[in-house]
Amino acid sequence: MTVAFARTAEGLASEDALIAQKLEQAQPQPPLSSLEAVACKARIRQLLAQRNAVLIAHYYTDTDIQSLAEESGGCVADSLEMARFGRDHPATTLVVCGVRFMGETAKILSPDKRVLMPSLEATCSLDLGCPAAPFADFCAAHPEREVVVYANTSAAVKACSDWVVTSTIALEVVEFLHGEGRKILWAPDRHLGDYIQRHTGADMVIWQGACIVHEEFKARGIRELLKVYPEAAVLAHPEAPQAVLELADHIGSTTQIIQAASRMERQCFIVATDRGLVSRLRLQFPAKEFLLAPTAGHGATCRSCGHCPWMAMNGLRSLEQCLSREHNEVLVDEELIPRAVRPLQRMLDFAAGRR
Ligand code: 13P
Ligand code: SF4
Repeated sequence: MTVAFARTAEGLASEDALIAQKLEQAQPQPPLSSLEAVACKARIRQLLAQRNAVLIAHYYTDTDIQSLAEESGGCVADSLEMARFGRDHPATTLVVCGVRFMGETAKILSPDKRVLMPSLEATCSLDLGCPAAPFADFCAAHPEREVVVYANTSAAVKACSDWVVTSTIALEVVEFLHGEGRKILWAPDRHLGDYIQRHTGADMVIWQGACIVHEEFKARGIRELLKVYPEAAVLAHPEAPQAVLELADHIGSTTQIIQAASRMERQCFIVATDRGLVSRLRLQFPAKEFLLAPTAGHGATCRSCGHCPWMAMNGLRSLEQCLSREHNEVLVDEELIPRAVRPLQRMLDFAAGRR
């Protein structure tokens, strides 16, 4: 059974207005010439050593940041591995290139480390679409349910939860809880929640948030593309709508998409996730062809179509500035940390037990 959580019209309108405002303010980093990029990277390497800092980047950031993170001993990963890497790395400063919830997760798991980000304004529509106060009301209305929240949420929302999950582990955690006879309260991504419900059969009430990037992928466009590339396999992130997931040969997190592309015999893939990952796939598997799945195109709510406007706020220049000025430190309310760390640690322990 699945039930969508009904919100008030005012609540939904204020969240939509906030997302629109933050989208308006999201400025992508201007591109650098190749000479400027080389100089900037050299300076960042120097600053990382001086500050005892390590780079932790998400797959959706630009390829320069990804290569720098790898070359300098940091990591490029999905949100689960970013959390694990930051917690276990001995550096005293973690520089998180991604969006705000990733920086907050790093801080919650390592409160004694300093966490910096190229931009503190890099947010996520799922986080913005799930404010802590109405979410607490949602939980209070369902006290008998296990509260499972996606990592793409604020520290305050995590603090209300029993489990935090990322897309890599969400299905397994809900499968486990369902097997234990538990009913689930899920937030905030409705597409991921519906996908998990369809696969596990769990009894779930679902918050109605969405990712503005993945919601733009269109099944009709993918069907058209499949007429031109009938041999292509479709790889989709579970934040995409059901109609897109129904066309997918493989559904999974960013890391699971990379693994599927490596494992599958096909030569051509249509990829329904951020184009940062598509660039990564092209570099990693040069003999295979990767096409970004079609989006709604002009007039869509996602300005950049196929690329998260908040991930695009991470550039070499802003990274250099955050390290040289030692600014943009991520701070999390100290009262929330002990409550938010519990469900995060539970996820990491669960994942470690499954390896
Ligand atoms: P992953 O956990 O798969 O990296 O996804 C995070 C995200 O924000 C996807 O839009
Ligand atoms: Fe959030 Fe979507 Fe951007 Fe991922 S791609 S960070 S879910 S807005």
